[in-house]
Amino acid sequence: MSEKITNPTKKCNRCGCILPIDDFYLIYCKQRNKSYRSGHCRYCDNQKSKEDYQKHRDKRLKSKKEYYLKDPWNARLRALLRRCKKGYITTDDLKQIVKDSNGKCAYCGKEINGDWTFDHAQPISLEGTNDPENIRVCCSSCNFAKGAKTEIEFRTDLYGVPF
Ligand SMILES: [Zn+2]
Ligand SMILES: [Zn+2]
Repeated sequence: MSEKITNPTKKCNRCGCILPIDDFYLIYCKQRNKSYRSGHCRYCDNQKSKEDYQKHRDKRLKSKKEYYLKDPWNARLRALLRRCKKGYITTDDLKQIVKDSNGKCAYCGKEINGDWTFDHAQPISLEGTNDPENIRVCCSSCNFAKGAKTEIEFRTDLYGVPF
């Protein structure tokens, strides 16, 4: 009586390891109506699915980034929402604010030429919100100079009087 081989093994064509046959997934082939063992071990399968996931994730992140680049309004809105959690504002509100500004900085009155930045009139650090009434379109130098000052403080700096 020949001795039964109790532990059949198989060599993985990916990592080259010789492993118990159970470490190779059974794959069912519909056309041949037959199951066969995968050519690579389950550890390599797991590795591969991790790589696939990573690839998929990179692709998804890239398309997300492209999406925002394609829609700068969305990017601007996101930037506001990142900085402040309070209040409610939409991209339409931002477009309206820019329209109302006639392309000029809300603080110094300079023509902005498309390089708008958005500022919280009442700073976030002083309970300012993202509500449209609190958002001003301004040039980047005013935005930078204003910092955490209130609108009144900053205008007083610029003109000696608040309005
Ligand atoms: Zn393997
Ligand atoms: Zn300005």
